[in-house]
Parts: sequence; structure tokens; C-alpha cells
Amino acid sequence: MYNNDSKILHNSGLYGKGILELPLSSLTEEYKSSKVRLEMMLTESRDPCIAGNAPTLATGRKWTPAAATHQAKSSLKHRDIVGHVQRGRGGLGLGESKPAWCKASPLQRRGLVVEEIRREEQAARCARAISQGKQGRWMCWEDVEKRKLSWKEIWDMEASRTSFLLRATYDVLPSPANLSQWYGEDPTCHLCSSPANLKHIMVGCKTSLAQGRYTWRHNQVLRCLAASLESRRMFVNSLPPLPSHPPPTGQFVREGEKQPRIRPPKTEPGQLAAARDWRLLVDLEQRLCFPAEIAMTNLRPDLVLWSASVRRVYIVELTVPWEDNLGEAFERKKLRYAELAADAEQQGWKAIVLPVEVGCRGFVGRSVTSLLKDMGIRGQAQRQSIKALARAAEKASQWLWIRRRDNTWAPR
Ligand SMILES: [Zn+2]
Repeated sequence: MYNNDSKILHNSGLYGKGILELPLSSLTEEYKSSKVRLEMMLTESRDPCIAGNAPTLATGRKWTPAAATHQAKSSLKHRDIVGHVQRGRGGLGLGESKPAWCKASPLQRRGLVVEEIRREEQAARCARAISQGKQGRWMCWEDVEKRKLSWKEIWDMEASRTSFLLRATYDVLPSPANLSQWYGEDPTCHLCSSPANLKHIMVGCKTSLAQGRYTWRHNQVLRCLAASLESRRMFVNSLPPLPSHPPPTGQFVREGEKQPRIRPPKTEPGQLAAARDWRLLVDLEQRLCFPAEIAMTNLRPDLVLWSASVRRVYIVELTVPWEDNLGEAFERKKLRYAELAADAEQQGWKAIVLPVEVGCRGFVGRSVTSLLKDMGIRGQAQRQSIKALARAAEKASQWLWIRRRDNTWAPR
């Protein structure tokens, strides 16, 4: 397996060259950061004996840890002078704050320098990816959660899975379009005879759509999402009931005394904590009928979660799109349910439409994280849910890829 994996990495031209921030960090990056960390540990030791006699670390000729450390330090000092700058669309003060170089402790400084080295490596990788029209498409993905597989996870994976994940991400799988480009073979789809690249096989084939292949994949992912929400729902519903009346406030207060402050009981995180009668419907085995008490409609969202006591309803719609089109899918679904939400509001319900996306190659959209967070699924549970969703999408897509030449369709 070991040999197999390195062969795949070699074949796809990725080995040692740096494999971007998606799915793996590069060997070069790990090598450089560990050397720099050691260099700083030795030369900046509190023991003068060690600091004075620090050995020159053995590396190649082009790159030395001493020079790299020096450069990283100067750019960190420069950043101190520039001060905090705004990045992205977040408001002022929303960006992550880092300790200033001049105020950092020796340990923090070491961390800052290593981070700077990683940042430089990543910038170099991005510059290379931008020049590659095809393999670098991931540069255009928006609203996708960062996904990082540790080397341990990679070694634990089956070889075929690693191979599929990497080659699908960089679009170097032997799809008809690629085979035509490489060897002059027939560039058409085996199912529908139109020109087929990876995107066509994964999300664009009419025959696949008619046969229900995409629906099957969608339902695999939906099942996973429903499981996370259902366990959360059960948990919240089983919590001790909320105080039915607001605590008495009409107590007699003597003149000159302050009214005692009533602290609200410690609440669960997330928006579900407001009620204990949540109900959940999922559009899987049986056709979902939108609860008539909320609104009358023919629309069938993937997931409806509602509570009659607080008159609130969450309408969740899942898409498994091509990673380039995450934002587009979000807007489309939001629009589709706008009218239904308005109807529900007229009936006195608070309706929240939550479109979520899990990319077909297993890259989870930010919308998913914010949904889980809103529902109070945080920390370890959140990470597990996201991993499971990514895995479900990736596994189903791999199955679709394997069956791309098979005209008959029968999901297992
Ligand atoms: Zn096709």
C-alpha cells in the first residue's frame, strides 16, 4: 500500500512538490517547519552554552534554516509596523488576532515563525496552482471548509480511496475528456454520448440523472445529515422541561433595596434549546409531506424541523454540487423556498430556510458548519459530523465513478 500511494502521488505529479492546503500538507512544508523550530530552539536557548555553540543544521544547499528564520523574523517585525489589516468581508475586529511580535513570549515567537514559514510555502503553492488552469481549479472554490487530512489518516485509507480523492480534486482521473487529450480516445460519455469530463460524470449527465444516480448519492449524504440532527433533537427533547411561566417578579421590594436579579438557568447552546417538542421529518424512505399546520405546499424540502410551542420551523435543503458551484446552489435553493417561508410567516410561524451544500468530492460547504452550529452541534461532535458528511459524498461519488461505463443502474 505504501508503494502504491507514493506511486499515485508520483503519477499525479504531486509528490514532494507541495500539495496545497487541501487534502494534505506537503512534505517540504513539514520538513522546513521542523528544521526552523529546531534552529530557534537551539540558538535562542536560555542556556548560554547551548545558544553559543548551536550547530549548523544539515540541510540542502539552497535552503538553510538560519536564513529562513531570519527572513521570517523580519517579515513578522514588518507586520508589527503595518499593524492589523482587514481581510475578507468580515467586519472590523472579526479577523483572528495574533500576538504582536514585539510582545510575544519566546514560545509564541517560535510558533509565529513556524506559521510564517508555512504561510510562505502555501503562497508559493497557490502561485503555482493559479498557473495551472485544470489542476488548479480548486483555487476558485468559494465557501468551502478547509479540509486537511493528516498523514496518519492518509496511511490508514485504502489506496483506491486516496487515489480517487486526490485525482478527483485535481481533475486528473481518466475521464473520457482526459483520455481524449492524453491518448486521442473517444471523448464521449458511455451513458449519454455527449462530451464528458469529470464534471459531466459527477453532476452533469442526463442519463445518470434520469436513472436516479445523483438522487441516490444525495440521499446517502442526507441520511448522514439527518442522523446528526436527529440525535441532537432527541437530546434536546429529553432535557428537563423549560420553566413554563416566567419566574415571579412581583415580589415586594422595600424602599431603598434593589430588586433581586433573577439569573436565567444555564442554557444549552444552539437555537433548539428554546423548546422541548421538536419534530423532524426527512424526505428519504417515505415522501415528505410538509406539515399542514405550518403551511400548505407541494414543495418537498429535504428536512423539516419544527416546534409548535415556539412556532418556529427550519427548512433544510441539501445539495451535492460540483465544488465550483457551491454559492450558486445556495442562492438557487434559498429562492425556491422563499415563498413557502413567507406563507408560514403569515400563519404566525417563524420560518428559517437553510440551504446546505456538500461538494460531490467531499468538500463541505461553510453553510453546513453554520447549520450545525445553529443547532448546537459543536466541538468534537461537529467535527465528526462534517467528516461523516464528507466521507458519504466522496464514497458515493467514487461509486458513481466506478459505474460510469455501466448502463444499468442498481445502487447497492
Ligand atoms: Zn453522460
